[in-house]
Amino acid sequence: MIKITAVPAFDDNYIWLIRADNTPFTAIVDPGDADPVMEAIAHDHLEPVAILLTHHHGDHVGGVRELLTKFDIPVYGPANENIYGITHPLKQDDVVELEQIGARFEVLDVPGHTRGHIAFYGHDMLFCGDTLFAGGCGRLFEGTPEQMFDSLEKIRALPDSTQVYCAHEYTLANLKFALVAEPDNEDLKQRMADTTAMRRQNQNTVPSALGLEKRTNPFLRSQIPELKQAAEQFAGKPLPTGADVFGTVRYWKDTLD
Ligand code: ZN
Ligand code: FE
Repeated sequence: MIKITAVPAFDDNYIWLIRADNTPFTAIVDPGDADPVMEAIAHDHLEPVAILLTHHHGDHVGGVRELLTKFDIPVYGPANENIYGITHPLKQDDVVELEQIGARFEVLDVPGHTRGHIAFYGHDMLFCGDTLFAGGCGRLFEGTPEQMFDSLEKIRALPDSTQVYCAHEYTLANLKFALVAEPDNEDLKQRMADTTAMRRQNQNTVPSALGLEKRTNPFLRSQIPELKQAAEQFAGKPLPTGADVFGTVRYWKDTLD
């Protein structure tokens, strides 16, 4: 059985450890900082076997150099980004086999937040960095709304049961905006209540089920008439395509952040 451990880093990052029952082996996803990873490795007596990277931002790759001085392990990451230490450059439909853990992930190209952003999908889990967040999505730093829309559609096509392991605890702030865009969404109101209670007890709200994201995350809901209408009202013009709706909702959130 694959199991996942969250290593909190900085203010709101999650570094994910992919582990297998009854072995010390672990893969490290997006180690933005080496120190908390080293603590977790020492605490749980782990043996790293690989590093997986989703994109080039410092809060996702900043610990790679130091980890590689301690562990001689392969680094899997996006082929289209310039990142220190990558031994296995990856693109759409490549496969990552982690034999010691018994894990296998397919690679999705999900550009938008950055130009070469990738995600790892397998075992009903998605490691998607800063592309999809719980209740939100990453900012468009390098890509176009069309690219990000296509990336999120690719994710939306995955099964509802998929557990979404994004890289930040942004859920509460994301849901506040979601309620501005979709004030009458009952599933969203319930999620806000649940998330507020969880955060009050300092619980992680990540991972989340993709099915819940499809019902409550405005960035997966461009096709919903109520959201489209709200976006058109904000834009003051018709938004004929899903990418137009998505781009407007993303811009709308940016104006409120
Ligand atoms: Zn990022
Ligand atoms: Fe980030």
